[in-house]
Amino acid sequence: MTDSGIQSFFERLQGKAHQAASRLADQHVKLAVTGLSGAGKTAFITSLVNQLLESTGSANLPFFTVSKESRLIGAKRVTQPDLRLARFAYEQGMDALNAELPSWPTPTRGVSQIRLHLRYKPGQGVSKYLFDQSTLILDILDYPGEWLLDLPLLGMDYAQWSAFCVKQMQEGARVSLSEPFRAALQEMKWLGQGDELKLQGLATLFRQYLAECKQQGLELIQPGRFVLPGELEGAPVLQFVPYIANQTDIDWQSLPAGSNLALLVDRYNEYRSKVVKPFYKAYFSDLDRQIVLVDCLSALNRGEQAFDELQQAINWILKSFDYGKNSLLRRMFSPRIDKLIFAASKADHVTPDQHDNLIRLLESMVHSARQDMQYQGVKLQTTALAAIRASQVGQTLYQGQRLSVLTGHGLQGETLTLYPGDVPSRRPAPTFWQKQGFEFPQFAPPARDPLTALPHIRMDQMLEFLLGDKLV
Ligand code: GDP
Repeated sequence: MTDSGIQSFFERLQGKAHQAASRLADQHVKLAVTGLSGAGKTAFITSLVNQLLESTGSANLPFFTVSKESRLIGAKRVTQPDLRLARFAYEQGMDALNAELPSWPTPTRGVSQIRLHLRYKPGQGVSKYLFDQSTLILDILDYPGEWLLDLPLLGMDYAQWSAFCVKQMQEGARVSLSEPFRAALQEMKWLGQGDELKLQGLATLFRQYLAECKQQGLELIQPGRFVLPGELEGAPVLQFVPYIANQTDIDWQSLPAGSNLALLVDRYNEYRSKVVKPFYKAYFSDLDRQIVLVDCLSALNRGEQAFDELQQAINWILKSFDYGKNSLLRRMFSPRIDKLIFAASKADHVTPDQHDNLIRLLESMVHSARQDMQYQGVKLQTTALAAIRASQVGQTLYQGQRLSVLTGHGLQGETLTLYPGDVPSRRPAPTFWQKQGFEFPQFAPPARDPLTALPHIRMDQMLEFLLGDKLV
């Protein structure tokens, strides 16, 4: 080999070593964002991406260490890894927020994804001396929290699920909402010859009942795909209903083949094995971090039954993060989420002195499962945040006392100045609900200079919890 050949050989070797070292320095985090519809997922992801793309060198994220230490070099959006999934509509969301009359981004309804590359200067350890910069690959997955409410179905057979539905239909507003569906079942010949058209009609009524519950803020909706079907709209696997006759002498082990009831049991089982399980296998098996958004304030606004159903929904959602030895999840795959954050969304709907109460309220709702989860190595945090702060805090004098007030614009563009009231730090007693209710406001998104990052509350603390350890 000539001298120049030897030199170029060493140069190539050096280049390869550098590439390998860079690859070693690169890290990858898969972050999932969920919450029941309306909880604020779309606003949250839009803001999160916007903070990372626009905040380099700005003071917008003081509690996000990599940003505070001016080590965040830049972020860019790159092609997402799974091309079968919808692309998260970041640009459309920003267009809506940047319009002359800003509006909230159109909510997502199924699964969507976005990938970012975050370039940063390592600040600690060997990496600091070896590399000028590293890249964190951040995949963000957005999926409906309603789908998590289906996990308990894996532990219930059709008869048990039906009994649950019947009990639910006897509670509060659900009695009248389920009336048309129950009336249509009066003539049902459960053991008669299966009639697909009839089942389709009944399933439509059942779904209407669930959709109306949802509209009234009753969040304990099962099966989740009946309100958010994603790609399954119109598929027979969504055409089943619970058994709600009074007949108790059904022999579930030997239903007449081809009967309505046999068809319903088949479809229920198909839903569990072809819809619920694959969702967990496809998405849950390789997530690293998870944020669950909870709209506690809207639930308080809607009253006692809505609040209690939200509590129950949280209990069920938490089952999806129960990694105990005997959990349903462990039996399906080895989950590896190590950090989980529950965040009360839209904290800008209340004055800052109420944020602690809002966090405590959510904490009390999450509390029962918390100890177990820490034991199982999942770090769990509870917080309150506003992905996009739409209100300003001011002061007013009321009966000689200084009072914090919020100002902003209502959804019709009207100027609002108000004291939204106190947030309870735990579930209010039944007598409280009988006497009064809550009325937390809604705001239009803020008008702002589109070249600046979106205003927020605690997005930086949330970023630090979820990504800080990957950006050292
Ligand atoms: P999704 O269904 O979970 O994706 O919920 P969205 O992100 O679409 O949020 C539903 C609605 O909640 C929005 O249209 C806004 O009215 C409101 N919202 C969401 N996030 C915020 C926030 O950070 N601040 C305020 N003031 N409102 C919010």
